[in-house]
Amino acid sequence: MDRYEQVTELARRRGFMWPAFELYGGAAGFYDYGPLGAQLKRRIEDAWRGFFVIREGFAEIEAPTIGIEDIFKASGHLSGFSDPLTECKECKEIYRADHLIKHIIEVPDALSDEEIYQVFQDNDIFCPECGGDLSTVYEFNLMFKTAIGPGNKHAGYLRPETAQGMFINYPRLLRYFRGALPFGAVQIGKSYRNEISPRQGVIRLREFTQAEAEVFIDPRDKTHPRFDEVKDIVMRLYSQAGQERGEVEEMTVGEAVEKGIIAHQTLAYYVARTYQFLQAVGVARDRLRFRQHKADEMAHYAADCWDAEVLLDRLGWIELVGVADRTDYDLKSHMALSQARLTVFVNYDQPVRREKLVIKPDMKSLGPRFKGQAKAIAEALKSLDMKELKGEGPIAVQVDGETVEVERELVSFEMVEEEIRGEELVPHVIEPSFGIDRILYTVLEHSYYEEMVEEEPRIVLRLLPRMTPVDVAVLPLMDRPELTAPAREILEALRSAGYLTDYDTSGSIGRRYRRNDEIGTPYCVTVDYETIEQGTVTIRDRDSMRQVKVKKEDLLGTVSGLLCCTQRFEDAGVAVSP
Ligand code: AMP
Repeated sequence: MDRYEQVTELARRRGFMWPAFELYGGAAGFYDYGPLGAQLKRRIEDAWRGFFVIREGFAEIEAPTIGIEDIFKASGHLSGFSDPLTECKECKEIYRADHLIKHIIEVPDALSDEEIYQVFQDNDIFCPECGGDLSTVYEFNLMFKTAIGPGNKHAGYLRPETAQGMFINYPRLLRYFRGALPFGAVQIGKSYRNEISPRQGVIRLREFTQAEAEVFIDPRDKTHPRFDEVKDIVMRLYSQAGQERGEVEEMTVGEAVEKGIIAHQTLAYYVARTYQFLQAVGVARDRLRFRQHKADEMAHYAADCWDAEVLLDRLGWIELVGVADRTDYDLKSHMALSQARLTVFVNYDQPVRREKLVIKPDMKSLGPRFKGQAKAIAEALKSLDMKELKGEGPIAVQVDGETVEVERELVSFEMVEEEIRGEELVPHVIEPSFGIDRILYTVLEHSYYEEMVEEEPRIVLRLLPRMTPVDVAVLPLMDRPELTAPAREILEALRSAGYLTDYDTSGSIGRRYRRNDEIGTPYCVTVDYETIEQGTVTIRDRDSMRQVKVKKEDLLGTVSGLLCCTQRFEDAGVAVSP
């Protein structure tokens, strides 16, 4: 069994996650989160909220998961959100064409369908199932289509990303943030992609959870006011140039911006926050890097884009997060289709003085002369330039396809000085886009350890405290009333204090410890006869398997100290007897 199998087997057996619809044979690309998985997922999402909603002050919204056609027309998903597909001519099995050449071309995204097919031919690539010939490659749109209301009059699409919800709410969000940049809006929610042939568990799902932030910034200034907080963080960067050389470099965030490796401070700031967040939920630092999109892989509108990638045992380097400077592409696309003004008025530091030509047609004379046409003629006169106004003889203007002559005396004009305080701009957008399911799987795999204890294998999930589905397990030594009654009291006290708890009386205490090790429970509290006689309970630490006795009345304080900061008794000031 490789690590992937070990982790998915544990996840299935213990109730983290399992293939959906098992009762009816299942369907690829759908997973259920069981009791432990749903809890772990919520903790990851809450940690994300802590970073982006609380610390960054972004606004969380919740938009529908079904979108109308116009949204995806504007966003480009309708015409361009597709993956290359190939089919076996013999057994009819369907494949993501680019996945079949990953071992030959490092980033196949950049190839056209014809080029992928050429790689098949040049490298003798056949159907992995039956060895049959593969068809030519064509694009398959990944959006699930549905109908809104009865009949087929209104097409709807399950959203392929949460981002559009923030873009189309831009005018209201701008008002919410009192008309000023920068501001950010986020969504955590389901996205749907009809993936061609998902074969990698929760890494490639047809329904998955994204957490996305859209940060609307002033395009004239991409520095970040809090850059100093992150500039000394050292990260592993796999830049465009590094990929050419096959070299990952370690450098500080500050250095990466100074050297022009990451385009600007704001993008680098969110790359750094992403890095901190991933470690805070339990992604291993030594299996995490940021890879810059290659020029031909990057969306044409993107100014720069970095993926957080993690190393997984079976699957290799996998993208967990994309952090991109999407420029003004999305807002401009929605502006073009909706005709709405998706701009912001930005003040200049200093008002600018400018000369302006003011043209005043004499309406008192034009009105009686030209009657119904007078207004249109006046408008045409107002759009003349200085040279045309200063000429000789009557002025000729075009109105409704007809040339009309107007005496020069009927138009006066002058240059006036005006003060300009600012201008209307389309903001640029920085987007950190997280795949929660992939993060959850990574956290499980990176925390999975198998070790021998007294010649018995012990599986332990070294999840970080507060990132576990259970904070504390309460275990009466034996299933007897004199022990279960005080144990239940302790359980209630822990629950009232807000801890996720488990209560287990089945099997030997050793087996119960092992079960809790396997699901990552950081502390087990054992209630035994000393609890009755001396008023103490035993706390057992998952990682070191050491135990301490504390007074029943000190338990809550001790647990709170242990869970908030540390995985070691000594660091939380808990006395350990030698
Ligand atoms: P993208 O919009 O393709 O850059 O996706 C953003 C993030 O969503 C990725 O970094 C992944 O973590 C996640 N993601 C994308 N597609 C899937 C999928 N089919 N299943 C699970 N997660 C996905």
